[in-house]
Amino acid sequence: MEKAFKGIAASEGIAIGPAIIYQRPILEIFEKKIKEEERPAEIERLKQAVSQAKVQLEEIKEKSKKEVGLKEAEIFSAHLMLLDDPLILPVALHKISQKKISAEQAWQEVIEEAAALFEQIEDEYIRARVVDLKDVGERVLRNLQGKREEVLSELPEPSIILAADLTPSDTAQMIFSKVLGLATEQGGRTSHTAIIARALELPTVVGLGDIISEASNGLTLIVDGYEGLVILDPTPATRRKYQEKKEVYLAEKRKLAELRDLPAQTQDGFRLELAVNIGNPKDAQQARAYHPDGVGLFRTEFLYLDRNCLPEEEEQFQTYKEVAEIFSPKPIVIRTLDIGGDKDIPCLDLPKELNPFLGWRAIRIGLDRPEILKTQLRAILRASPFAQIKLMFPMISTIDEVRKAKALVEEVKKELLHQKVPFEKKVEIGIMIEVPSAALAADILAKEVDFFSIGTNDLIQYTFSADRGNQRVSYLYQPFHPATLRLIKMTVEAAHAHGKWVGMCGEMAGEILATPLLVGLGIDELSMTATSLLRVKQVVRKLSLADCQKLVREVFRLTETSQIEARIKDFLKEKEKSSHSKTFARGSRF
Ligand code: PEP
Ligand code: MG
Repeated sequence: MEKAFKGIAASEGIAIGPAIIYQRPILEIFEKKIKEEERPAEIERLKQAVSQAKVQLEEIKEKSKKEVGLKEAEIFSAHLMLLDDPLILPVALHKISQKKISAEQAWQEVIEEAAALFEQIEDEYIRARVVDLKDVGERVLRNLQGKREEVLSELPEPSIILAADLTPSDTAQMIFSKVLGLATEQGGRTSHTAIIARALELPTVVGLGDIISEASNGLTLIVDGYEGLVILDPTPATRRKYQEKKEVYLAEKRKLAELRDLPAQTQDGFRLELAVNIGNPKDAQQARAYHPDGVGLFRTEFLYLDRNCLPEEEEQFQTYKEVAEIFSPKPIVIRTLDIGGDKDIPCLDLPKELNPFLGWRAIRIGLDRPEILKTQLRAILRASPFAQIKLMFPMISTIDEVRKAKALVEEVKKELLHQKVPFEKKVEIGIMIEVPSAALAADILAKEVDFFSIGTNDLIQYTFSADRGNQRVSYLYQPFHPATLRLIKMTVEAAHAHGKWVGMCGEMAGEILATPLLVGLGIDELSMTATSLLRVKQVVRKLSLADCQKLVREVFRLTETSQIEARIKDFLKEKEKSSHSKTFARGSRF
């Protein structure tokens, strides 16, 4: 009989199909004392199981890199790090010796103790580590018991996976072409399942509570990733309703696809560039499908993370060249290394700081360690003949930093000239505006550079003094607060007063609610996650610059974020209505 369950919408879309219930086998650990002479063998068994887990994780990591993405594959680096944690394996080995218990029991105890410790901390990041800890813990236990990993790869037909929760190891094994959607009892919008689902555009609902006990394999399921609903055993009428909803969704997707080759231009002819943010060459390939006007932000950190040494110039050059060739002749803004803050690089042995986001980060490291920055600059300049490459420095706070960074570029250019290495002489140099001091002094900085790109993620974090990764203060992430809007306006006006172009590459650039304001302010470029690009373009094409400018004037008279958001929502609704009536009028005329 039909039954609906409400959960959390984690990834949009509608899926209809048979359920496959995935339950990880419960590993039973019996308490058992071991004899004195058995201890070395137990210790060896545990060491073996951990080594085996490392090999498995390396394989899964490689597979994830290819099939899902680099960021998702990094989860397995975290698992590998847990296996090397001095508070895990050494403690378990010690327990075997001290308490004379089996390898399984010792390992289980250590994992449970560590998880209990993490669970007490109300921090989303630490909580996510609990899932990783349990996942890696089960892997070692399975190895100890010689059990094969239950894999989700052998689905008989395209199905919807129903599970209590999905660990990174579970999803890494899935053959995604056979998965129609996901529904899980646990998890929130930032859980692993949700992140993977959005990366793969799979309709998904998480946090459904007790649903598996009422389902069975093969039973028809509907997953509504918009409303956060899952319907078990729908009636034919419900099925029809959702089939229609699915078709509307697919039609919308097709309609958006038709915009790919049209310009992001308002009704009265104001044209802006819509570019993409990428983090590696694989992103670049995927982003190309949306026909962007270029790359507005190439985050280069991936080259430095997850490895024991710094990347050589040649490796970097090959990567930049690869991306350049994917997008040529369109422009690509390559941002120099932005590490520190929340991004650590093991081989640099960065000091632990009390306030890492306010500390030795990004350009500050680059200027203190010029050999690292110069290697990157050489690689970027060498790639410049292959496309329209622009250079961008992150986290600029003062004019001095800009001048020092530019001096390094000059040094590198001289070296290359001297060595007769070809490069493009007129590479544009820009900076990110993501520190309030830079926005407030944008008129001074504008004279020094060719362009600005506003990084709202950090600009908002620093304006409100609210750590961008801390859930407790996430209410202070306010793109529509008058303070944020004033800083953006100052930056745009300062750039234009000096004849420079200005873009935005923080998350705000991909938010539809921000589009009319940014158009009204006259921004030249918006760079965003590729999957947001066509929706933003659709909105731009319904707007007029004159109306958006009027909206900006109105909004700047308002004092509260909620009023501002409400006013823009109304504005967009009016636009939507008038664009429908125009379509209708055209339709009725012909
Ligand atoms: C930003 O801060 O808005 C930005 C685009 O940079 P990142 O998110 O990489 O810090
Ligand atoms: Mg930033």
